[in-house]
Amino acid sequence: VLRLENVVKTFGDRVVLAGIDLTVDAHEVIALIGASGSGKSTLLRTINLLEQVDDGRVLLTGTDITDPRIDADAVRARFGTVFQHYNLFPHLTVLDNVTLALRHVHGVGKAAAAARGLELLDRVGLADFARSYPDRLSGGQQQRVAIVRALASGPEVLLLDEITSALDPELVGEVLELVRDLGASGTTILMATHEMAFARDVATRVVFLDAGVIREEGTPDQIFGAPRDPRTRAFLDRVT
Ligand code: ATP
Ligand code: MG
Repeated sequence: VLRLENVVKTFGDRVVLAGIDLTVDAHEVIALIGASGSGKSTLLRTINLLEQVDDGRVLLTGTDITDPRIDADAVRARFGTVFQHYNLFPHLTVLDNVTLALRHVHGVGKAAAAARGLELLDRVGLADFARSYPDRLSGGQQQRVAIVRALASGPEVLLLDEITSALDPELVGEVLELVRDLGASGTTILMATHEMAFARDVATRVVFLDAGVIREEGTPDQIFGAPRDPRTRAFLDRVT
């Protein structure tokens, strides 16, 4: 579905991504792990064209989306993206948040979009909040709505960046549970996470990023159980 070829990103003279090669196949759940500053967010932002690559390219189902002539909005509409902080519009109801892109980017009619939005909210147990405004929801509920919104238009890949790190600890579980369900039902997911237990439990593949380089990748059991690279080992010793 997604292929990164030698992706390089620099900020000034700082090389943040130093030639990343990564393939994401359909139905994979990939956990990007690595120390703060290793380039996880930059990698995700490069993929959905919030950052421009300095070298290399990103292919989405065969299309070179880093081609400067590409329509960036059209590309972004093919991803579902959720960041650390709630991305909901406070002045829109939960349902309107979920259906906004469906209606205005994908041109789905109001009634059809509402039906689709309600169906998705129902699936995650939030249908009762459809007419509520986001500030009536807990942080965990808001993040689940943000995930539902990202899914509404049937994205090819779901990009998640530390979606639980701004939440109170007791709210983390419900959000991770939703991600687990999505992965189990076949959604293709690329997520940056500091939740090592979750990565081990849910990811089909774990990618360890260190100073803008993929040091090691493998199954959760291999990476967490028998890391080969000394830097992976040092990182895991620190965080687990
Ligand atoms: P964290 O785990 O803390 O979220 P991360 O792995 O997501 O870290 P990035 O946010 O990708 O790391 O940052 C990688 C490096 O790039 C950092 O050194 C950061 O300071 C730098 N960086 C990121 N965005 C910019 C920017 N817009 N301008 C300059 N430097 C940046
Ligand atoms: Mg980050």
